[in-house]
Amino acid sequence: MQHPFTETMLATKFGHFNIRVYADTQGKETVLLSTEKLDPSIPVCVRIHSECMTGDTFGSLHCDCGEQLDASLQKIKEGENGVLIYLRQEGRGIGLFEKIKTYQLQKKGYDTYEANVLLGHEPDERTYEKAKMALEDLGITRIRLLTNNPSKVNDMMNLGIEVVERIPLVMPANTYNERYFISKRDKFHHFFQETIGAKVR
Ligand SMILES: [Zn+2]
Repeated sequence: MQHPFTETMLATKFGHFNIRVYADTQGKETVLLSTEKLDPSIPVCVRIHSECMTGDTFGSLHCDCGEQLDASLQKIKEGENGVLIYLRQEGRGIGLFEKIKTYQLQKKGYDTYEANVLLGHEPDERTYEKAKMALEDLGITRIRLLTNNPSKVNDMMNLGIEVVERIPLVMPANTYNERYFISKRDKFHHFFQETIGAKVR
């Protein structure tokens, strides 16, 4: 069953994409940017990006979301067989209001994992059913996933999407996001390679 969506061509600084927006009564529309040609018979390059207004829109240096978003669109465009799925689950699923509270706690020295827990949240509340739904609508069952996050790989596999390859998406660390990277690596077990090894050990 296809879910209700609307779509058109979108010209961006990375090139042309097909933009598909799913209807959502809560205003949490899932958005897909896919390459003009899409062949689901071979594994498709996929980025599942959860919304981060501060990073994606304002260029915040406290995380690497905006940079990951740009790098993903670039890679997807280059590969000519890919999809970016933009999920509206801000702040690892706790929302912008609560995320800013976690930033206050991070200023006091707590890391992103501890801050979430102190506010009564799970360390990561994101879910990926909407990504699975969108992939299924496109007839995609096998993907090459752009991520450093092993639990995202597992979650997609558990939802029945075969992740045939994980493509790393490692951004350089800076003064503001160094602790964020360390907690991603040590608490969320993200894969980081030597690219940030110089700053984050
Ligand atoms: Zn972010």
